[in-house]
Formats: sequence, C-alpha cells, structure tokens
Amino acid sequence: RRPPSRKGSMADVPKDLVAEIHKLETLFTVSPEKLKQITEHFVAELAKGLSVEGGSIPMNPTWVMSYPDGYETGTYLALDMGGTNLRVCEITLTDEKSEFDIIQSKYRMPDELKSATSEELWDYIADCLYQFIETHHGDCSNIPELPLGFTFSYPATQNYIDEGILQRWTKGFDIDGVEGENIVPMFEEALARRGVPIKLAALINDTTGTLIASAYTDPDMKMGCIFGTGCNAAYMENCGSIPKIAHLNLPPDLPMAINCEWGAFDNEHKVLPRTAYDVTIDRDSPRPGQQAFEKMIAGLYLGEIFRLVMLDLHDNKEIHIFEGQDVSTLRKAYSLDASFLSFIEEDPFENLQETHDLFSRKLNLTCTRPELELIRRLAELIGTRAARLSACGVAAICKKKGYETCHAGADGSVFNKYPNFKERGAQALREILDWPEKKNRRAEDPVEVLPAEDGSGVGAALIAALTLKRIKEGNL
Ligand code: BGC
Ligand code: MG
Repeated sequence: RRPPSRKGSMADVPKDLVAEIHKLETLFTVSPEKLKQITEHFVAELAKGLSVEGGSIPMNPTWVMSYPDGYETGTYLALDMGGTNLRVCEITLTDEKSEFDIIQSKYRMPDELKSATSEELWDYIADCLYQFIETHHGDCSNIPELPLGFTFSYPATQNYIDEGILQRWTKGFDIDGVEGENIVPMFEEALARRGVPIKLAALINDTTGTLIASAYTDPDMKMGCIFGTGCNAAYMENCGSIPKIAHLNLPPDLPMAINCEWGAFDNEHKVLPRTAYDVTIDRDSPRPGQQAFEKMIAGLYLGEIFRLVMLDLHDNKEIHIFEGQDVSTLRKAYSLDASFLSFIEEDPFENLQETHDLFSRKLNLTCTRPELELIRRLAELIGTRAARLSACGVAAICKKKGYETCHAGADGSVFNKYPNFKERGAQALREILDWPEKKNRRAEDPVEVLPAEDGSGVGAALIAALTLKRIKEGNL
C-alpha cells in the first residue's frame, strides 16, 4: 500500500482540491448572524408548539410536575429503550440526600427490531425484563410488583403520565401499527404474556429523565438535552404558559416539564442552512419531511452526511477523489456512523496515518495526503455544524424562559464522545448570547452545557417516585 506523503500542509494540496474544500467550508459553516437568526425563529416556534393551533415542534406536556427535592426514597425499576441498547436498572433512592444505589444490565437492540412487527418488539423487551429479574431476584413468581419508569425516547402524546400515544417513529425506527396508538397497553400485554411482575408507573422521555436526574444533584440545571442517536431537550414550563392545556384549569404557576421534541424544528425549511446532502438524507429516510433539525445534528446522520459528500466528490466533481478505485463500499447507505467521524477528528493532523488505515481497512480505499486533508476538514465541518446548530436550541430555551444564567444537563454519544462537540457548542452559545469576552479562560460562561446525571436510570426512578407520591397525596 502507498503511505501518505508526510510533508505537509495545505501548500501541497492541489489547487482544485483546495477550491473544493473552500466550497465545502462555505456550505457547512454557520455564521454568528445565522445562528442568531435560527435562535430567534426557534424561540417563536417553541411558543407556537405550546399554543392551541400548534406548530411543528410538538412541545409535549409530560406530567412531570416538580423537581425532586433530594429526599425521594424507594426501589424502582427503570427501562431504557434506546436506539442501540436496551438497559434495565434497579435503583434504590436512599435516605441520604441525593444518593442512590443502582444495579443494571444492558441488552443489545438487534437492528432488525427497528423494522420488526410490533409484537416482536414488545416481546423482546418483556424478555429482557424477565431475564433481568431472573438474574437479580432468582425467580419471577415470588417477588413484589416493582414500579417501573419506562424511558421511551420517541415523541408521544400523554394525557396521563402512564399513557403514550406515539406521534411518529424517529431515529430510523419503522414498525407498523404503533404510530397513533397508546404503547402502554401493548407493552403491558407483552409483560402479561411473559409473566413479568412489573407495574408501569410512568412513561418518560430521555430528555425529561435527564432534566430531573440533573436537577437532583444540581439545582441550577434548567434543561435536559440529548445529543446522541437522536437530538432533543426538555425544560420546566408553567402551566399558565401552555395555552393548549388551558382547558384543564391547572394552577398557572404549577410546573410542567415539556418534552420539546425539537428535532422537528424547521420541518417547513424556513431557516436551517440545509445542503443538497441534507435534502437527500431526508428524502431517503423512512420519514421524509420529519425531524429536519435532528437530521443535521444527531449521531445517526453525521456519518451519512459525510458519506454522501464523499460520493458526490468522487462521482460528480472535477477533482475525482479516489480516482480509479472501486468505491462500491462507499455506496452502502448508513455504513459509516458518527464514531467513524470521531475517529478521523481524533487523528493527529501531522500524518493522518490512522485515517489512512481506517479508509483502507473499512472501505478498501487508499487515500493520498491531499485526500486525507480534505477528509479531515470535512469531518470537522460536519461536527462543527452539528455542535453550533445544537446551541441554537439551548439558547432558545434560555430566551423563552428569560434565563440569563443556568446549567443545561446533556447526555448522549455525540455529546460525550464526539471530539470538540462541547467546546464548539459553548463557542456558538457565546456568539448567540453576546457575552462579553472572558477575562480568564477558566471563568464560567453564564449558560453552561454540562454532562448530565443518568436520566434514563436515576431520572426514570425519580419520576416514578414523584408520580407515586403525587398519586398518594391525591394531587391530579
Ligand atoms: C426522539 C426524542 C428523543 C431524542 C433523543 C428523538 O429522535 O424523537 O424523543 O428524546 O431522539 O433520544
Ligand atoms: Mg438513550
């Protein structure tokens, strides 16, 4: 194999390739002015989602109606049906303030399940719960019914906390007969078929869990964000600011967590700087026209955007990257995930040897040094765009609520593992919210996005505890 030239810098990159890199830079760079314009529109769309007419952001009331005070107690099960894993936890909230014990098991979510039948999905989940109880309690037949917080991270309409009418599948799921239906009876029937002694106490979104778990240990936490396979946030609203539930006559200052489902922001394509690649991703997805914002930010799509650009450069542009090589491996949709881009961004720029080897191992392609530089720049552009756009959502919630300072708890593979995502998002927030230049590099920003506590574990248990307490006290 041909090792890349170690020489050097952009100076060695052929002119037409440099021109192509500049075009990509223009296409994928979001200016401070654009970030501000997106944020302004975002604030208006958050309000619209709460109105009677509604907008494209669902803004779902979640029936989580208080922050925890740290003194919640009891033992709960938590189930997290994520896109890649299924996790079951048993959480004991102890007598000590904000302390808990946790045991957990992870099960793989086979890819085929994403397009299986509804029964197959629920039976698989019931099986995992059964296994968990068998492993940790020995036998399903003689244990007390444990209350469960079920983290179901898809947009759902809830008239009660133990109801969830699936609005639509996201994150590539495509299972018939579930959209428009309440998933709770389907889930409970599967538990009954399998004989699993579990009582669902609360159905929650991962963002709401993240909000509550983070507020449990840090009272400055005012929103919960997920930047993972999907992308979304939740925050605490006042019932009086939610016109679409005014008919319920709840006290106006009663808190109500709102699951924004902000992945649907700009589904009508008014402000987001979409490229032809974003248009293709949407067109070829199982739900075209949905999740416009999410499709530019979430981990499920970052590698796919990259793949589409690479193919375009090979097939249609003058520069013909990978000239004369068989690019068939690059033609398979969704074959590159966000970790592929993370890997490229982590490779020291000086020689990009790891990137060279990755392309040869995974795609059977040999890259020249100039090609490697283009690849690296493209990964940076895609990762940076995602981080900067995500800051618009955080800034919009702050503006909507009038928070001049606060913490936001964030979780998800992109937030936790994608190189520079946090710093790039923080930089964008500074640009949007116009903070004065920091005197000291380590000084805190007024609004900080920080790693969250475990939302779908501890958060789900806390929400189950808050719900049971509310029922016991006869509140709603
Ligand atoms: C879902 C949200 C979820 C987010 C992060 C989105 O696709 O619609 O409910 O919070 O992914 O998991
Ligand atoms: Mg998750």
